[in-house]
Amino acid sequence: PMDAEFFTAWIGEAARAVRAEKDRLTRLDTAIGDGDHGVNLDRGLTAAAAALAERRPAAPGAVLALAGSTLIRKVGGASGPLYGTALREAGRALGEGAEVSPAELARALEAAVDGVRGLGAAAEGDKTMVDALAPAAGALARAVREGRDLAAALEAAASAAESGAEATVPMEARKGRASYLGPRSVGHEDPGAASGALLLRALHTVAV
Ligand code: ADP
Ligand code: MG
Ligand code: MG
Repeated sequence: PMDAEFFTAWIGEAARAVRAEKDRLTRLDTAIGDGDHGVNLDRGLTAAAAALAERRPAAPGAVLALAGSTLIRKVGGASGPLYGTALREAGRALGEGAEVSPAELARALEAAVDGVRGLGAAAEGDKTMVDALAPAAGALARAVREGRDLAAALEAAASAAESGAEATVPMEARKGRASYLGPRSVGHEDPGAASGALLLRALHTVAV
C-alpha cells in the first residue's frame, strides 16, 4: 500500500540514488551552472530522510510536507525551494488519509508540478526540472486513467521523466542560472531535469 512507510522509503531511495549520481549531477551543473546541484540535493535529501526517521509522520501527506520543508530549509540553491515546494504541494494534495490511491498519487504529482511552475515560472521547453516533471505527471495521469497497475503506471512516469531530461540537451535555457549562458547552454542536459528523472525512477523502484 502507498502509506507513510512507502513515501518514507521513496525519500530514502531518492537520497540513495542522488548520492550515487552526485558527481554526474555536479558535472552537469558545472557545465551550465555553478556546479553545486549534486551537493545541494544530496544534502537536502539526506536531511529529509533523517528528519523522517526521527519524526516518523503517520500519513503520506505529512511525510511529503516534512520532506519538503526540510529541503527548503537545508538547500540554499534554487532547487531546494523548488523541490521543497513540489513536495509540500504534493503533500497538501494528499490530505490526511493513511493510504494513497494511484489516482490520488497522479493528482499529487500534478500539484507538485503546478507548485514548481508557480514558484519558478518555467514552462516546458525552458530547460529546467519542469521538462522532466511535467511529462512524468502527464504520463502517470494517463496510465492511471487507462487502468494500468501501479508498477506499470510508475514505469511510464519514470520513462517520461528520463526522456524529458534527455530532451533538455538541445534546449536553450530560459530560466535559472543556465539562462545566463544563453545559446551556450545548448548541448548539455539540465541538472534539475536529470535529478527529476532520478526522483521519478526512485518512486518506481520502491513500488516494485
Ligand atoms: P542553483 O542554480 O541555485 O545553484 P541548483 O544547482 O541546485 O541551484 O539547481 C539548478 C536547477 O534548478 C536547474 O538545473 C533547473 O532544473 C532548476 N531551476 C532553476 N531555476 C528554475 C526555475 N525558475 N523553474 C524551474 N526550475 C528551475
Ligand atoms: Mg547550481
Ligand atoms: Mg548554487
